[in-house]
Amino acid sequence: MSSFTAPQSYTAFQWDSPNTDLKKTEKPWKDPEQDEVVIKVLACGVCATDGNIRAGLGVPVNFPVVPGHEVVGDVVAVHPSVRDYKVGDRVGAPMQRNYCGECRHCRSGQLMGCDKLFTTLTGATHDGGYAQFARVPTNGVCHISKDIDPAEAAPLMCAGVTVFNALEQLKIRPGATVAIQGIGGLGHLAVQYSKAMGFRTVALSSSDRKRDLALKLGADIYIDESKQNAAEELQKLGGANAILTTSPSSKSIMPLLEGLAFEGKLMVVAVPHDEVQFNPGALLGRRLSIHGSFVGTNEDCARTVAFTVKHNIKIWVEKFSMSKVYEAFERRENAQFRAVVLPWE
Ligand SMILES: [Zn+2]
Ligand SMILES: [Zn+2]
Repeated sequence: MSSFTAPQSYTAFQWDSPNTDLKKTEKPWKDPEQDEVVIKVLACGVCATDGNIRAGLGVPVNFPVVPGHEVVGDVVAVHPSVRDYKVGDRVGAPMQRNYCGECRHCRSGQLMGCDKLFTTLTGATHDGGYAQFARVPTNGVCHISKDIDPAEAAPLMCAGVTVFNALEQLKIRPGATVAIQGIGGLGHLAVQYSKAMGFRTVALSSSDRKRDLALKLGADIYIDESKQNAAEELQKLGGANAILTTSPSSKSIMPLLEGLAFEGKLMVVAVPHDEVQFNPGALLGRRLSIHGSFVGTNEDCARTVAFTVKHNIKIWVEKFSMSKVYEAFERRENAQFRAVVLPWE
C-alpha cells in the first residue's frame, strides 16, 4: 500500500438534486482532514433506504451527494491526528458517521442515542460509497477482517448490524425460543444469527420455497403463514420468548403478539408501510412488550462482522460492477439478495 499515489480525481456517482438519476462524475481528490481517513472503496451495498435518500426523505440529505452507506474498503490515506487506523487497514463505514462525544448519551456510552446521530450521515449529508474513494472520520468506522469478501461484509454495515444488534437488545438467554418473521435480506441473516446465538429458532414466512431456504439456514422449525395460524403454532411450541419481525406490514406483525410466551418481546426492525393497529390490552396479561431497534454503532458493526466470520454465516449478495450501478440501484427493494457495487470493477 505504500506505493499508493493519490490520484487527481476519481469516479463517483451522485444525485445532483432530489429525485434525479445517478450521474457519473469525477470528484477531485481531497486529503483527509483532522481525525479522517480516505478509503479505497472495495464494495458498497445498495440499501432500500437509498431510495428515500434520493427523494430527500427520512434523513437529512445534502445534495449533491454520493450515496452509499454500506461501505467497505482499505485505508489509503490517514491524517496525522489519527492513531488507531493506518494505511492498509480494512475498514467498514456505516451510515452513522460520527458521535458528538459531548451529549449525555455519548457520555454514558449509549452512542446510538447521540443527540447529533442524524446530523452527519455517510451517503446522505456526506459523500458515501458509490465511488472509488470515500473520506470518513475514524469516529464512525470499524476495523474489519480480511477473511471476509468485502462484498459480503458491506451489507453487514446496515442490514446485518440491524438484526444482530436487535437480537442482542432482546437480552434473552440461550435456549429461548426466537421466531424470525420474513426470510429475505434481513431475515436470512437473523435466522442464522439467532441459531448461532443458541436460540431455538422458528422461521415464519409464506411459501414452500422459503421453507427449504429457512431450514437450510439453520431454522429448527418452519411455520408457513399462508397455511397455518402463526400465533397458534407458536403457542403449541410453548410460545416465543421473542419475535423479530422484518416484515413491512403491520397487518402481519400485530397478530403475532398472540404467539408470545409470558414476558415475550416483539422486536420491530423494519418500518411498516401501513399504520400499526393493535389492542394494548393484549400486552397486559402476559406482560408482553414491543421494542424497536435501528442499525448499531461502528463497534456493533465490527462485532457483527466478527460473529459472521466466526460462525460462517452466509450473506446473500449480488455483485455489480460500477458501470452497472443503475441496475444495482433498481434492485434495492429486492427482498432477498443485497445488491453490492464494486467501484473498481
Ligand atoms: Zn441501510
Ligand atoms: Zn452525542
